[in-house]
Amino acid sequence: MKKITIAIDGFSSTGKSTVAKQLAAALGYVYVDTGAMYRAMTLFAMQKKLIGEDYFNKDQLISMLDKVHISFEFNEALGFAEVYLNGENVENAIRTLEVSQYVSQISAISEIRQQLVQQQQQLGKGKGVVMDGRDIGTVVFPDAELKIFMTASPDTRAERRYKELLDKGEDISYKDVLENVKSRDYLDSNRKDSPLIKANDAIEIDNSKLTLEQQFKTVLKLAKSAIEMENKKAN
Ligand code: C5P
Repeated sequence: MKKITIAIDGFSSTGKSTVAKQLAAALGYVYVDTGAMYRAMTLFAMQKKLIGEDYFNKDQLISMLDKVHISFEFNEALGFAEVYLNGENVENAIRTLEVSQYVSQISAISEIRQQLVQQQQQLGKGKGVVMDGRDIGTVVFPDAELKIFMTASPDTRAERRYKELLDKGEDISYKDVLENVKSRDYLDSNRKDSPLIKANDAIEIDNSKLTLEQQFKTVLKLAKSAIEMENKKAN
């Protein structure tokens, strides 16, 4: 059976990673969370005190890129690959609101994007991959056989993210989370290098009113028919 590449892009907190993980598990594909890579890079910059509330030492960060090693390791119990920064598991450390507040500045840097996009292309080169992010269908895998673009209203997304962070014990306000969702939408969509845009051939899914199950069924159906089409072409 021929495997395909599935690109899932969209705004922050649209549930891309939830559906991408479900899809990868159902198809026996590898899931790659590219947002986790930009978050790990952000955490590195924070640890080295290169970015903070009123400072950002971009040039020094660029000069240190060869010291940043981001990798994934599959966790059997969780059923997906966790992200590691220089050998340390940072899967939880990268999910804080503080990291979210700096990540769009980090991800706008071309040198960083080049390094991470190259790694993402390597990770997906054998196909059989579900990759989620902002530029997967436009830049990383423009030839992906299935491209999905997820959207939901900013309020819906902020509510989801707020609940998630509260459950993790973060002391945050809904207002800050909503502001972060809106500011990342703006920065990610307006940066010069690889802005967040829907690829022409992407299928848009607004999941504001869909349950997780409905969303999964919709995406699984699309994936199965894309796989079938590729296999027909091959025969
Ligand atoms: O998907 P997630 O919300 O974890 O992504 C965090 C941030 O990483 C995004 O807001 C965006 O700035 C950046 N990102 C990106 N390109 C990707 C994935 C994420 O610029 N492919």
